[in-house]
Amino acid sequence: MNITLINPYELGRQPFGLAEPAALLEQAGCTVSCCDLSIQQLEPCIDSDADVIAIYIAMHTATRIAIEALPEIQKIAPGAKLCVYGLYAPMNAKLFRSLGVQFIIGGEFENGLLEMVEQLRTGQAAGDLAPLIRMENTAFILPDRSKLPALSQYAGLIMPDGTRKTVGFAETTRGCKYFCRHCPVVPVYEGRFFVIPADIVLADIRAQVAAGAEHISFGDPDFFNGPGHAMRIVRAMHDEFPQLSFDATIKIEHIVKYPDKIHELAASGCLFILAAVEAVDDDILLKLDKGHTRADLHTALELMQAAGLALAPTFVAFTPWTTLDNYRELLQHIADLQLIEAVAPVQLSIRLLIPAGSHILKLPGMAAQVGRFDPQLLGHPWRNSDPRVDALQQSVQEWVTQAEADGMSRPDIFQGIYQRAWSDAGSGAPELTLDGTGKPIPRLSENWYCCAEPTCEQLAPFQLTIDCS
Ligand code: SF4
Repeated sequence: MNITLINPYELGRQPFGLAEPAALLEQAGCTVSCCDLSIQQLEPCIDSDADVIAIYIAMHTATRIAIEALPEIQKIAPGAKLCVYGLYAPMNAKLFRSLGVQFIIGGEFENGLLEMVEQLRTGQAAGDLAPLIRMENTAFILPDRSKLPALSQYAGLIMPDGTRKTVGFAETTRGCKYFCRHCPVVPVYEGRFFVIPADIVLADIRAQVAAGAEHISFGDPDFFNGPGHAMRIVRAMHDEFPQLSFDATIKIEHIVKYPDKIHELAASGCLFILAAVEAVDDDILLKLDKGHTRADLHTALELMQAAGLALAPTFVAFTPWTTLDNYRELLQHIADLQLIEAVAPVQLSIRLLIPAGSHILKLPGMAAQVGRFDPQLLGHPWRNSDPRVDALQQSVQEWVTQAEADGMSRPDIFQGIYQRAWSDAGSGAPELTLDGTGKPIPRLSENWYCCAEPTCEQLAPFQLTIDCS
């Protein structure tokens, strides 16, 4: 059986979500090819004789691209059965079925892919795989990355001096044990996470180092969901590759809880930690059920500074509860904490995305505040009760997109955002006094954004015609 696996987009990462099932399906006797639309074009990338085309949708942007690509895929490979798998597959199941997709596999998808192959081989009726969301252990095997474009074609690490390192991507766990209300992981994993065995992770890292990786970016939703497992991998990796640097995503609560481990990460080659700070307003943090407060952010920053580690915070800057005042306060806070160089400007334009099944809809009164699920948006539309806040979000988004395209520095982009946030205050706007913007930190060449609606500009680089009307 010929299978083509497609990755629409995963933040510039060479996807584990293709490389690992590729190995598993080959082991099951299939002939597998891979196509990464963030780098390659559908034609000639996908096999027109494919029996199955399976699209990996790990995030909102990938889902948008998959929807746009499906008619084209059907034209190129009219005989192929279609499958979508990954985090965003089950929450958009109805929509994908209406687009002709027969197999939809969410959660821990590997066994589902194998069952799909078995079903097709034995000629059973297609499309009755169950359950939609799989929460079962996978017998992980070493990913086969040879079918994907080279690591050097993916997102790189930009060092403060402008030099670039080749980045490999690894995952040590999938899912998450927390219930942050806005998070797309929650409706699928509902507080569960699954461990990828350390020997598989280390063998995958070894293969990526051999392929040129100089830095490993750990893509776990939270690296410290299983801190013992994470530290075992870090220690073994550092012993074997002492020059290899890395980054990881760790929630503020865990940074505060594990100061010794933060120091050990720093001593083992960690360059920075991404943390989903999301807001500095304690009321908004409570609504999002983030498990941290503004004071915790300050504690985490102190700990990180003491360890010599950079913090790269991410935000959901625009929510239904955002006011002009608390947005201005967020900007002032970032300036006061000297985080301007550490915050990717796009983070200050991000608008809360409410996908189907989002736990944010469980907040009292929330369901009445948002519109019905919109298949164009792949989410529930909402408006801020103050139209000036929605207008500011648009203005900041346009400014950031243009300023980044023009190659402006983060401090200059920040100044522009600050001016827009105070534009209706006339002469009452305070001067932005910058004691310092913080030191530039190492950063990946593609921004991390997850719980956000992508803009047309973010989608534009893909070789597909995206209807953003
Ligand atoms: S935001 Fe992070 S910590 Fe919270 S549920 Fe999602 S992955 Fe877990």
